[in-house]
Amino acid sequence: MDLQQWLGRATHAIQDWADTFGGYEPHPSLHVDDDRFAAAFEEFTGRLKDNYPFFHPHYAGQMLKPPHPAAVVGYLTTMLINPNNHALDGGPATARMERDAVSRLAAMFGYDTHLGHLTTSGTIANLEALFVARELHPGQGVAYSADAHYTHGRMCHVLGVKGHPVRTDVTGRMDLGALEDLLRTGEVGTVVLTTGTTGLGAVDPVHRALPLAERYGARVHVDAAYGGFFTLLAGVEGPEGLPPEPWRAIARCDSIVVDPHKHGLQPYGCGAVLFRDPEVGRFYLHDSPYTYFTSAELHLGEISLECSRAGASAAALWLTFQLLPPTPDGLGQVLAAGRRAALKWTDLIAGSDLLELYQQPELDIVSYFPVVEPATLAGVDAASARILAEGMASEDPVFLSTLKANREDFTARHPEIAADADGARILRSVLMKPESEHHVGHLHTRVARIAQLR
Ligand SMILES: *Cc1c(COP(=O)(O)O)cnc(C)c1O
Repeated sequence: MDLQQWLGRATHAIQDWADTFGGYEPHPSLHVDDDRFAAAFEEFTGRLKDNYPFFHPHYAGQMLKPPHPAAVVGYLTTMLINPNNHALDGGPATARMERDAVSRLAAMFGYDTHLGHLTTSGTIANLEALFVARELHPGQGVAYSADAHYTHGRMCHVLGVKGHPVRTDVTGRMDLGALEDLLRTGEVGTVVLTTGTTGLGAVDPVHRALPLAERYGARVHVDAAYGGFFTLLAGVEGPEGLPPEPWRAIARCDSIVVDPHKHGLQPYGCGAVLFRDPEVGRFYLHDSPYTYFTSAELHLGEISLECSRAGASAAALWLTFQLLPPTPDGLGQVLAAGRRAALKWTDLIAGSDLLELYQQPELDIVSYFPVVEPATLAGVDAASARILAEGMASEDPVFLSTLKANREDFTARHPEIAADADGARILRSVLMKPESEHHVGHLHTRVARIAQLR
């Protein structure tokens, strides 16, 4: 896809449509001359260089990458119209695209029925899911694993609901014994399961936690903000295939959050919340003196806590799904490559004397640390920080990220490391670009070399 060519076509397509309404002159107050614009643009593009190269395969750090060109074209083209998906009055075409895209997400998870919409982020999507959960289980708290995203604790605070972190096991998954102890108290009305923790990519055992929650009358919400699209690899043949049980069980859970702006090739500003029972729409009921005039058809603002939202976001996702649908043969191929990259790097680390795996990756996040002498948490912490900094500063740079592992979690996995500190930073690489699969050999060589130069 030639981005320049498609952006050119986009401006023409929108201009042709605009011309059907008759020509007019923009107001002089908006006029900017090209010389002034050129100067501002030069400074602007100069400032943008103060960034890490998220697009490059040698960037193997945080959960960041540019959107697919189809998403860029979809977004920028729509932005020339700038619809607001709050109401059909604000953008009928993109509101319908949003409903199509959301239906595809619901189908991806195996929902037979659904009510859902896009949000600005996974944070807001989780807030909405927990808001509905609170309305259905007033006076009861919310349980989530200690490794769940910190947003759950914060959103419980916002909602005035008690949050209960549940211990994780040595694989980083929720400890179901601890969950059951908590459910037995009757204080918990909702269990949040994470399919793909943000730190390590651990997948909570949804298929085992769901019957447990049902037995105690608790609701189950799945936070798949990061991991959701990995359901496309559930039960797939080959090394990249994932054990299907937790992913298949998501279809029976009450609500799901997934972030197309993480693994769905979208620009930031695209999260999604899905409810299995469309009846929960009643909790959003409100009157609006300003909107909802053009039809009796559902307006997305009637089932959303946010008001204005970019129609461009829905358009970008819709156009991307036309080309790379959320199916095993479509977007699944992109996730499969990242998964293979994680497995390849894991093998290289397992065969190295300089690096050690922190734990086996379940998805595309590799966690590892430098081998240090003497083997102490403080030593690992300092060496990880040094590798992070020297990796970025070197002639042939590699970009990693660090993750703080606490003492108990670390020593449960690696009892041979002396626990002389509260915890240690380890190295973490999210291999979410499919290109990574062809670059992990280089990444490994560079990181091992820097580890050796102590
Ligand atoms: C990223 C993430 C969130 C927060 O989503 P934002 O889109 O960053 O607001 C919540 N939960 C999980 C598991 C995540 O990975």
